[in-house]
Amino acid sequence: MSDKIIESRMSIEAKNLSKHYGAQIAVNALNFSAKSGQIVGFLGPNGAGKSTSIKMLVGLIQPTSGEAYIAGERVSQDSINLKKQIGYLAEDNPLYKEMYVKEFLAFIASLHNISQTRIQEVIQLTGLSLEQNKKINTLSKGYQQRVGIAQAILHNPSILILDEPTSGLDPNQMEEIRSLILSLKPGRTILFSSHILSEVEAICDRLLIINHGVLQADCSMDEAKSFPGGINQLFQEKTKLVK
Ligand code: ADP
Repeated sequence: MSDKIIESRMSIEAKNLSKHYGAQIAVNALNFSAKSGQIVGFLGPNGAGKSTSIKMLVGLIQPTSGEAYIAGERVSQDSINLKKQIGYLAEDNPLYKEMYVKEFLAFIASLHNISQTRIQEVIQLTGLSLEQNKKINTLSKGYQQRVGIAQAILHNPSILILDEPTSGLDPNQMEEIRSLILSLKPGRTILFSSHILSEVEAICDRLLIINHGVLQADCSMDEAKSFPGGINQLFQEKTKLVK
């Protein structure tokens, strides 16, 4: 396969993507393009428009205007091929919490015709070997996030979109989930949203800052760190309240 095809298979693109809820503008003309092999941090305070953007990128809600492209395909076309490329962890990580870990993953796998071998592989990859026979609701929030990530990667997607995967975790759990995400980077493009700068700074190659539905910065992490006053200053400037 040529480099160009591989590159396109892993691309995430927003072109003038907007979402209005009546008079409320949640996302306003978002433009960015993420290429293969990167972890892209999607940083912004609560209410900035991260989840709304992500839901448009994965095809859960329709944009008011603009278009999202995944792996070079229009998300609005809603093709099966497109769904195969995307792994998604929603902010509220909806799990069937009465199910056992392995049973839940087997259930998701059965919907996508995924083999038993792959379930075991993913259980190992996500560090769930010792937890696989436990009920999901008995697990810590950190381990529940692992289950959420496991279901997102079962079909081995080349694009992984994680909405606030470390939110609400304690510092150790945050670190563990960050390492897990880093381990999933080879061969993938990962979009990682967070409202916490240090989370994004720790693992991302690239930084998108969104505030009030508008993209305020799009740069490499190195560029962000060399901003006058440092990355903290950049974040503060780009997320100032607009009066
Ligand atoms: P974030 O994920 O960055 O916290 P959201 O995308 O959830 O932000 O929300 C962006 C803005 O859109 C917020 O002002 C939020 O209140 C508003 N919003 C989100 N969903 C809806 C909705 N269904 N109806 C009206 N306003 C919404």
